[in-house]
Amino acid sequence: MTLTTRKFDALIVGAGGAGLRAALQLSNAEARVAVVSKVFPTRSHTVAAQGGVNAALANVLPDSWHWHMFDTVKGSDYLGDQDAIEYMCRAAPKVVYELEHFGVPFSRLEEGNIYQRAFGGQSQHFGKEQAARTCAAADRTGHAILHSLYQQNLRAQTHFFDEYFAIDLIKDETGHVLGVVAFDILSGEPIVIEAKTTLIATGGAGQIFRTNTNALSNTGDGMAMALRAGVPLEDMEFVQFHPTGIAGRGMLITEGARGEGGFLINDQGERFMERYAPNAKDLASRDVVSRAIAIEVREGRGCGRNKDHTLLDLRHLGADTIMKKLPGIREVSMTFLGVDPIEAPIPVFPTCHYSMGGIPTNRDGQVVVPVKDTPEDPVPGLYAAGEAACVSVHGANRLGGNSLLDILVFGRAAANHILDFLKDNRQHRPLHQESVDQALARLARWDRKGEGEAVEPLRRELRKVMEDHCGVFRTAEVMQEGVTRLHELRERIDNAVIRDHSRTFNTARVEAMELENLMDCAMATIVSALGREESRGAHSRMDFTDRDDERWLRHSLYSLQDDAMDYKPVRTQPVTVESFPPKERVY
Ligand SMILES: Cc1cc2nc3c(=O)[nH]c(=O)nc-3n(C[C@H](O)[C@H](O)[C@H](O)COP(=O)(O)OP(=O)(O)OC[C@H]3O[C@@H](n4cnc5c(N)ncnc54)[C@H](O)[C@@H]3O)c2cc1C
Repeated sequence: MTLTTRKFDALIVGAGGAGLRAALQLSNAEARVAVVSKVFPTRSHTVAAQGGVNAALANVLPDSWHWHMFDTVKGSDYLGDQDAIEYMCRAAPKVVYELEHFGVPFSRLEEGNIYQRAFGGQSQHFGKEQAARTCAAADRTGHAILHSLYQQNLRAQTHFFDEYFAIDLIKDETGHVLGVVAFDILSGEPIVIEAKTTLIATGGAGQIFRTNTNALSNTGDGMAMALRAGVPLEDMEFVQFHPTGIAGRGMLITEGARGEGGFLINDQGERFMERYAPNAKDLASRDVVSRAIAIEVREGRGCGRNKDHTLLDLRHLGADTIMKKLPGIREVSMTFLGVDPIEAPIPVFPTCHYSMGGIPTNRDGQVVVPVKDTPEDPVPGLYAAGEAACVSVHGANRLGGNSLLDILVFGRAAANHILDFLKDNRQHRPLHQESVDQALARLARWDRKGEGEAVEPLRRELRKVMEDHCGVFRTAEVMQEGVTRLHELRERIDNAVIRDHSRTFNTARVEAMELENLMDCAMATIVSALGREESRGAHSRMDFTDRDDERWLRHSLYSLQDDAMDYKPVRTQPVTVESFPPKERVY
């Protein structure tokens, strides 16, 4: 069988907001660009983003990029790299106005400016009054952005490989990344896509937890591909649990619902956030609100027959506001719970939402590998952006509205750096057959027939292990047990088979390889969490309850080889302004 080979200047794996923003920048500069996506581009997870994208436009209340920067550093529990945060917050207004020109139908204020709502952790004057910084297209902002970017890419003639699954990176013996081996999910045919540069934009790994807000496709494929190529993953212990997932189901009720004035209550009807965050109340940072809900339930003040959730009350907003500003939320609540928020409060509980950690990059989207005693070295030809990457602008806790911003700012920045790289690297490097063969072997391994456990129950078990052993509150003992169980599962996954060799065979192969990727991401998360002996942002240790800046103001790095942990310093110096030194985080 001859193997199909295609060549491009730039290859982008992932057609979410990060991938499409990067592709557009490259196509508009007349680079030959291909985008590979395992789902049809407009079904990428970005489509589900509800509340909006942050930018200090000051359309509703006074605002400045510097206040935005302060909030992001504080929200990150001081683990975010301040040079990258400064860059992102400064660039925010520009990328939002670009979106407006690409055709994103933002909601409008009466005088015609872009509507902005309040989100958690936002402030004016460095921590004083609440700000309103989140630019919204009702509660369907991601949908509006993704469709506009896709249409712009069609116009710019970006080449799409729709419903192709990227298996692994191709890397030569000098460390240059040369593209990927993928396969066409429809026909099952493998393909080699060679490129002078490869950008991983494959999104997060939320599916490692049983209850989550993520698309089924968020299986951390790009992160696992990087691990297998010898790149460690950064800060994987920091997983955001969103406070208001629909109880027992996980679907998201946007923070925008609290931004519009909704509040949380316990079984006594008490607005309990007033006790945990006297100033910001329901709009405190997400880690703070999630912990507060978990404590209310643990201390017996939960609602419902099993007292296992709290309630989000929107009734006082009135039917008009709910139908105009939060129509999608009302629909989700009515569809999945049969609860109309105009008439009754919505049962909510924290649910896994976002991966703060990922593939380590610099501000230009270059994947960087820390080398002892030397500056971080870029992996030649390899870039990452979006939720798959760790720049790191979110540190230990991401603020709502900052992820859509991250994917746009750093998707664009990576593309600009790729254009520079292409000027100096005009030729394709020779293909490395050994690396291609390794990826093909990974695909072929799932054609094996015979006895063995099936994929789906193993996937369910993995997600349950992570939920039970690495959730909102963590201890060494419970996590250690989780690591042992994951090691056992890894062996069972190695011996698993695809039972159903019928018509759905290719999608079964996708699910099998996703399971391997989930396994690597889950292991990275729990091993990193076990290593960090402090509580910071979303990482809450019951056996190490305080933040410990002396020992732990540093990024973690997990490598696949022997599950080894390493650490690197936080970049605390911004470029043009003074650093925000660590302080106690009070909302
Ligand atoms: C319900 C929900 C609401 C949210 N609301 C907001 C919000 O209001 N504001 C905000 O800032 N953030 C929000 N977020 C977070 C934000 O939406 C995501 O972090 C962001 O959209 C991720 O974009 P991305 O481009 O990195 O990845 P994604 O949009 O997840 O795209 C990943 C792409 O990679 C492709 N891919 C993955 N693996 C492979 C593979 N092996 N081969 C080929 N292709 C592959 C997929 O097909 C897809 O095209 C929300 C998240 C959720 C879950």
